[in-house]
Amino acid sequence: MSADSRDQFNVETPLRCPICGGALKHTMIRTLGSVSPHTQWQLHAGECPEHGWFQAEVVGRPPRDIFSVARPFGASRRLVVNGQEVYQFPTVWNDAEFDLRMNKEHPVDPLDAQYWKPRSLG
Ligand SMILES: [Zn+2]
Repeated sequence: MSADSRDQFNVETPLRCPICGGALKHTMIRTLGSVSPHTQWQLHAGECPEHGWFQAEVVGRPPRDIFSVARPFGASRRLVVNGQEVYQFPTVWNDAEFDLRMNKEHPVDPLDAQYWKPRSLG
């Protein structure tokens, strides 16, 4: 693993396994930069012991999708869930009200775990 200071390991992340909802091991957060002084740009990743690696990108807002990957920051990985091929899991953030998503006075905390849930888990 890289010792790059942009990477934090075994850290708290709202990311959960989108299949079983379980906590992830080997969590990491890579800071990719800052879009503006108040906008975090991060990649969160972690491994479900049963379902493998997942990651999600934060650009100032909760992620729209959680991706299954072969390894952190690696290529996407095909999963079969209920007989269907799946590469990504849309989050409930897609269903947030427009006013909530666009509220600049009280912006949503991009790390608020309630918005990181995959749609299928509600
Ligand atoms: Zn899992």
